[in-house]
Amino acid sequence: MTDLSRRGFFQSAAAAAASGVLGQSIARAANGRTAAAPVVVSSGNGLRATEKAADMIRDGADTLDAVIAGVNIVEEDPDDMSVGYGGLPNEEGVVELDSCVMHGPTSRAGSVASIRNIKTPSRVAKVVMERTDHVMLVGEGALRFARAHGFKETNLLTDKARKVWLRWKERHSDRDDWIGAEDADDTQSNARFERFPCYGTINCCAVNETGELSGVTTTSGLAFKIPGRVGDSPIIGAGLFVDNEVGAAGSTGRGEAVIKICGAHAVIEEMRNGKPPTDACLAALRRIVRTTTEKRLIDKNGRPNFDVKFYAVGKDGSFGAAAIWSKASFAVYSDGRNRLEPCAHLYERP
Ligand code: ASP
Repeated sequence: MTDLSRRGFFQSAAAAAASGVLGQSIARAANGRTAAAPVVVSSGNGLRATEKAADMIRDGADTLDAVIAGVNIVEEDPDDMSVGYGGLPNEEGVVELDSCVMHGPTSRAGSVASIRNIKTPSRVAKVVMERTDHVMLVGEGALRFARAHGFKETNLLTDKARKVWLRWKERHSDRDDWIGAEDADDTQSNARFERFPCYGTINCCAVNETGELSGVTTTSGLAFKIPGRVGDSPIIGAGLFVDNEVGAAGSTGRGEAVIKICGAHAVIEEMRNGKPPTDACLAALRRIVRTTTEKRLIDKNGRPNFDVKFYAVGKDGSFGAAAIWSKASFAVYSDGRNRLEPCAHLYERP
């Protein structure tokens, strides 16, 4: 662990200890039950998801049903432009969604990628798991399968997302014929480029008091992607991995980097070998740093110029999250309290 990452970890640990969480969250009571359970961990946009999932688990729901119901809130929210309805579209202005689910107790998984017109791809992923002999359906086939199971079709492109896409279309190049309204008489304007928010996803993982684990990841993926691009989020072992003997982990951020190291699986293997969740997340991030060799993805100090975050919960109720860059937070419900906590990190954001 670098000094910076240690600082990030200890800040996170100190915040947890100050709130009385850390000691209990890793405790497993004498009767084998997870003392702090339910424990639900999610990305920073998942505070409503962790609360909903924890409520359902306390009421006796299955952990997978609970985390899916949690992320459905965000999938259906038009104001979250990184997930489900209202997500930012591909380069042609069409919203394409990715999601996968894993159910720890039965070691089953389901996934959909590049699915259009369905607000809640996580639910379709669960039906793939339950009602097919497959794990993953993509594109038109995934949509036809969803239709067969009665999912309602909706135009997922909200006006707000369309306007962001249009602005990107008009401003990302001065070598095409798309001109923004305010740029019409400005000869310099098309040379002015803007940075657009490109990433965003929700991951949510949970453990109940008997140590049953499940997880889900769902996203509209990289904004303005090439149609058909699939990121890490629907890929079992990359954007999500659950092993009921060990824990559950998921990711957000640059999917291409996560796929290359089988990110969530890497986190779980680190945990299997004894690392606590936060250290396991940091170890997987270091693999990403090591395997990022493309010059266009490295800053002048040799560090990735993008971010990735991993989130993890252990079978014993321990939990943690880490990002490449500082100032990230994650949502967690444990010991009856729902809150945001800082992620550990490798590097201090300039
Ligand atoms: N991981 C997602 C993807 O690459 C995007 C994100 O999490 O921001 O599709």
